[in-house]
Amino acid sequence: MTENCIFCKIASGEIPSATLYEDADFRVILDVGPASKGHMLILPKQHFANICEMPEELTGKAFILAKHMAEKMEKALGCDGINVLQNNHEAAGQTVFHFHIHLIPRMANDKVGITWKPGKLTDEDRDEIVKKITEE
Ligand code: 5GP
Ligand code: ZN
Repeated sequence: MTENCIFCKIASGEIPSATLYEDADFRVILDVGPASKGHMLILPKQHFANICEMPEELTGKAFILAKHMAEKMEKALGCDGINVLQNNHEAAGQTVFHFHIHLIPRMANDKVGITWKPGKLTDEDRDEIVKKITEE
């Protein structure tokens, strides 16, 4: 538990939450500021700030749980689609610095805005990024 981390307190049960699933490693809750009705958050009970700090095995478990919750979401809520979203660091929109996965139910033609303006992959960018990532 990290002091003053709201998600540590929610995950441990110290602060009550609308819990959809719980096991030894995770609590799945409803987001209080949902992008759409049924927006869920998967919280590990242990504190890790972001995906780069998460241990491999727990990261694997978190995404397997995301798959199971997505299946449940589709069946129970009858949504047309689901966004699985995970923000890391302020620059990427992270506001709570305790790793979490968003599951956002989507309906056809809803106005939930999870989008970007597509750029253009230039040959220079392609070569630069392939080199940087594969040479690491
Ligand atoms: P982030 O921007 O860090 O990826 O997402 C943080 C999410 O946590 C936001 O969608 C926000 O609405 C949600 N959130 C922040 N504080 C609380 C809280 O106290 N309880 C719940 N259930 N959700 C929270
Ligand atoms: Zn925490």
